[in-house]
Amino acid sequence: MNLHFDIIIIGGGASGLLCAVTAKQHNPSLRVAVIEKNDRVGKKLLSTGNGRCNLTHDNISPADYVGEAWALKPVFDAIDTPTLLDRFQRLGLLTFRDSEGRYYPLSRQASAVLDVLRFHCENLGVEMFCGETAVSVKAQNTFRVQTKQNTYFAQKLVIAAGSKAAPKLGGCDSVTQLNIGHRAVPFSPALCPILVRSDILRSLKGLRAQAEVRLERGGKTLRSERGEVQFNEDNLSGICVFNLSLFTTPDSTVTLDLLPDISDTELYNILQKNQNRFSRQSADNLFTGILQKRIAVAVLKAAEVKNFSRPCSALGEDELRRAAECAKSLRFSVKGNAGFDRAQACRGGVTVKGQVDPVTLESRLRKNLYFCGEALDICGVCGGYNLHFAFASGIIAGEQL
Ligand SMILES: Cc1cc2nc3c(=O)[nH]c(=O)nc-3n(C[C@H](O)[C@H](O)[C@H](O)COP(=O)(O)OP(=O)(O)OC[C@H]3O[C@@H](n4cnc5c(N)ncnc54)[C@H](O)[C@@H]3O)c2cc1C
Repeated sequence: MNLHFDIIIIGGGASGLLCAVTAKQHNPSLRVAVIEKNDRVGKKLLSTGNGRCNLTHDNISPADYVGEAWALKPVFDAIDTPTLLDRFQRLGLLTFRDSEGRYYPLSRQASAVLDVLRFHCENLGVEMFCGETAVSVKAQNTFRVQTKQNTYFAQKLVIAAGSKAAPKLGGCDSVTQLNIGHRAVPFSPALCPILVRSDILRSLKGLRAQAEVRLERGGKTLRSERGEVQFNEDNLSGICVFNLSLFTTPDSTVTLDLLPDISDTELYNILQKNQNRFSRQSADNLFTGILQKRIAVAVLKAAEVKNFSRPCSALGEDELRRAAECAKSLRFSVKGNAGFDRAQACRGGVTVKGQVDPVTLESRLRKNLYFCGEALDICGVCGGYNLHFAFASGIIAGEQL
């Protein structure tokens, strides 16, 4: 078998596949190979957006990402949302926009996105080598890529190997393991549940509540999001929590405002009225009509309201104030993020500044070496941002090859 190629792409995921299609469309005579360690390409892509693949968003800007997003601004400038949607439409994928500005395939199936990419690769003659892990790369006159089974050679090499998120779907640290001579920020899990310390969490296990969720440090709010929070055994989750997981540090706190549309004073007044309305009922009924019962009990415990066998009428003014305060600011100390297994993406990756040209995505250290997707030091919030970057950077790298 002749394993000499013009271009080798390591990684048959979102960015690698679109990079391969773009390269072949630009120059059909090129021999392009994709090396993929899974037994098939696009395994992670199939799991995205709960199997529906949220492929981009109406409103994409570097401000929605952490890492070196601003250094990579030329990628967003070159491939904005309409440009990306147009590319996909020309490949045959129709999409729809939901009420929150997220785009999905019209069929609501991630497999549609993968099929479109796979079929174009097939028709354009991209050569796929699945079930092979690139274990080393040597750069001399050409690139030599070693897998357990074969030695491959190419004039140009693209690293589209993604991050360590979701190892069962292919996540790994090839960026470090391949030792390509580029600096990289170590990967850490993001877009995942936040592990917290709290005496009340167990009693809330299995519940969901709408809240404004704030990530705080030293009394300052670093970031806040609104949405549905899920209470689990040792963690909080939900899209709003996932987004905050991009910014957690061990000394931070997650604070829930369970009644964000009611001011502190209004809530205190409502509790006073409830105290009269339900004066004969036990104290744990103070939040009747306002909060779910188990959440109300947890709030009262956090407020150090003791002896629930007392009637509401027996609660003191101080206890009412503390209860109102805890419903507006229920605090959980952050232990850290859940692991790579539960992460949808990673912070970290190949450093851009001084190392990668943000316009072409070519290495500044080694000619003919390119990077795309999550292998680079960039990570976006939930909502189609990470796939947008993976696809956009895949197109840009593909256009240079
Ligand atoms: C459960 C889940 C849901 C998600 N949902 C969304 C969503 O709806 N919207 C969104 O924008 N983002 C979503 N993401 C994030 C998104 O999937 C990733 O950001 C995106 O896939 C990154 O694309 P990539 O090409 O850089 O990496 P990947 O898609 O991970 O592709 C990298 C490929 O390289 C292969 N590989 C790695 N190392 C080697 C090696 N040494 N040799 C050979 N092959 C190798 C891997 O097996 C993998 O197939 C989700 C992620 C997960 C885990």
